[in-house]
Amino acid sequence: MKSLLLTTMFLGCTMVAAQAQKPAIPRDAALEAKVEKTLAKMTLDEKIGQMLELNIDVMGNMRVENAKVDREKLRSVLQQYGTGQAEIEKHLKMTDKQIIEKFGSYPIDIYQGDTKRVWKLNETMLDTLISKWKVGSILNAPGTRAPSVEQWQNWIRLIQEKSMKYLGIPDIYGLDHNHGVTYTQGGTLFPQPINMGATFNTDLVRIGAEITAYESRAANCPWVYNPVVDLSRDPRWPRVYESFGEDAILNSKMVVAEIQGYQGNDPNHIDRYHVGTSTKHYFAYGAPWTGKDRTPSYLSPQMIREKYFEPFKEAALAGTLTMMVNSASVNGVPLHASYEYLTKWLKEDLQWDGFLVTDWADINNLYSREKVAKDKKDAIRIAINAGIDMSMDPYNVEFCILLKELVNEGKVPMSRIDDAVRRILRAKYRLGLFDEPNTGGKGFEKFGCDEFAQASLKAAEESEVLLKNEGNILPLKPANRKILLTGPNANQMRCLHGGWSYTWQGSKAEDLSEKYNTIYEALCNKYGKENIILEQGVTYDEGKAYYDENEPQIDKAVKAAAGADVIIACIGENSYTETPGNLNDLWLSKNQRNLVKELAKTGKPVILVLNEGRPRLIADIEPLAKAVIDILIPGNYGADALANLLAGDANFSAKMPYTYPREINSLNTYDYKVSEEVGTMAGAYNYDAKVSLQWPFGFGLSYTTYEYSNLKVDKKNFTANDVLTVTVDVKNTGARAGKEAVLLYSSDIVASVVPDNKRLRDFTKIELQPGETKTVTFQLPASKLAFVGADGRWTLEEGDFVLKVGNQTVGTACTATKIWDEPNI
Ligand code: BGC
Repeated sequence: MKSLLLTTMFLGCTMVAAQAQKPAIPRDAALEAKVEKTLAKMTLDEKIGQMLELNIDVMGNMRVENAKVDREKLRSVLQQYGTGQAEIEKHLKMTDKQIIEKFGSYPIDIYQGDTKRVWKLNETMLDTLISKWKVGSILNAPGTRAPSVEQWQNWIRLIQEKSMKYLGIPDIYGLDHNHGVTYTQGGTLFPQPINMGATFNTDLVRIGAEITAYESRAANCPWVYNPVVDLSRDPRWPRVYESFGEDAILNSKMVVAEIQGYQGNDPNHIDRYHVGTSTKHYFAYGAPWTGKDRTPSYLSPQMIREKYFEPFKEAALAGTLTMMVNSASVNGVPLHASYEYLTKWLKEDLQWDGFLVTDWADINNLYSREKVAKDKKDAIRIAINAGIDMSMDPYNVEFCILLKELVNEGKVPMSRIDDAVRRILRAKYRLGLFDEPNTGGKGFEKFGCDEFAQASLKAAEESEVLLKNEGNILPLKPANRKILLTGPNANQMRCLHGGWSYTWQGSKAEDLSEKYNTIYEALCNKYGKENIILEQGVTYDEGKAYYDENEPQIDKAVKAAAGADVIIACIGENSYTETPGNLNDLWLSKNQRNLVKELAKTGKPVILVLNEGRPRLIADIEPLAKAVIDILIPGNYGADALANLLAGDANFSAKMPYTYPREINSLNTYDYKVSEEVGTMAGAYNYDAKVSLQWPFGFGLSYTTYEYSNLKVDKKNFTANDVLTVTVDVKNTGARAGKEAVLLYSSDIVASVVPDNKRLRDFTKIELQPGETKTVTFQLPASKLAFVGADGRWTLEEGDFVLKVGNQTVGTACTATKIWDEPNI
């Protein structure tokens, strides 16, 4: 009885909170009327069809020409996907024909020599899927390889024709256009989101998204599975590079800018040059306990509400049309089964009226992997009742049959189906798809143009981080100097554009990126071919997993160093994403570290260029280098940007978007709890704790220097409703123009929950000429200094705070504690 009473009281409170919250996207009455009119005419089958999203692969046939299976490659691929030994042996005994039948349509390389994949759309199948199963959404590129823009226009036009003919409702086609148009040949690829985070420049992020939206619509695609705001807080995770970095505010400001760029300024009326977003992966995907993809996370309520939820909240308030859900579980509850997180937090508390799409086959995973459902039907019941609106069930239509049974049995209420379909229709109306299902063709002449290329180059220049520059060895002026260029990342595009580039893993795409410059090519252009000696020493084995390397030839590189004045070692990782990018050891490969160690023995100055999707440990080789640049994954023009920066034709202005660890057992983030770093204790026992970093979050050098002064806050005392005005002067004290990201941090000195060391509260980026000073002003609402207390409520406690910008600090104090009842403040 007592618990019933408590539940009722709790529900009562949330209803009050929900009523108080304004809709995240203001409602458009005319648009809502159209949604209702369409919904009223639909049968149950039609409604359920809208809720299914299929992979385009099922609508066609993939033929692999000249295919002969390479069993070693097959073994390696199966191992990467975690297949057990007995299963692997079984597969290896199958005939080539059987293996190709089973795996031919998957985007994996298991063949000898060069093969060609040819995909043909099967119109009869498409017809059946839309007329009989009434499928409302399709995703992906066939075999996850980028087709041409014309090819997309033809396929999507056909899909739309059939959708309008049989359903009177357009399809919503979705693509992982993650850092540019991943799946459209000839479009513009930008630096990966981790680089965009490092720019600390929201304008660049907005412009990049605008261009990607334009190029997506050129291909008739109205919906992208982006932005990604997973918070890259565990360096072991293979998707670190897909978000803007480890901090909640950095991700929040970037996601708002990116949604504006993709969707434009009116989420109810998105024009033909903008697209709908699917902010993902809702939420806490990037904190796996094991470090491996799609494995559980265990997080405190404070961490969840204050950090992991924050950018998704901002995305909802910025009007993201849809969100994609985290494949894994948090504290034992798979997100796809969480009524609390899907329905209450998003749809009720924020009054967000977009739709939620699952990630890849994730309703199935509720029974096959997570074991919270007994079979597929049970899994559908759980997920739809929890708040899932669309099931990305890539390969079959069983979802339609089972969901209909569940509705007829009263296990999924009709009101839930109507709610889901209303959300999907609303998005389709918001995107203008009923009026103009296809956009490409005329009016999209700028696709892949030079102006877009320049935007990508500028973003890359602002995203590469200078981490060390001993004795100002950089810039390297092109004055009669011979450069030894070495390392596995020195001469290939794959590692510069990373995963989600032309193909899912970013591999096997060299033919589609030929026109862009590798580091070698860019340095030849900048310094003259005669001045660059290319001897890589270590190379990746393109036939195997992303981490496999060929037999090293370090001695060749050492010999070549004799003729060079300076050595540039391009080291890091090859491209990957998701589960195939899992890792067993965070240290950079032994071969690559040995290469650097041997080269350093020559006495020639060594410059390290890190090109990697996550921070691989390099503590033993960093001291051997005079300079270190982390280019992260800078995209199509990343090498040209590097050449400009190395030569001093552009200035560095990026800062680390995550903490670069030094030791495997010290994987802290910058906002670690104060008790993670404790000095030596007096007495018989020492209980110190050390944070041991290679480079902290927010660290980055430039060719000029900046001096911070006069940090002031307008209130020495404040309460919860105040807004603090914080000002600081920043002066360019060097001889070159530069851009500086100005970061405002706060520290809560004493709190009832162990405080974080410091927290980023805001940032901006300014440009300064030599000798110029600018005053930067931040408006900081005092409520932003609140934390989530042990009872789960937002709390601002009486006591001292320190604000920090650059090397400046200033104190201020809260004079009255406030505890909020609302879930979001
Ligand atoms: C990934 C998502 C992606 C989806 C569709 C999944 O495997 O986790 O990020 O959007 O596939 O391609």
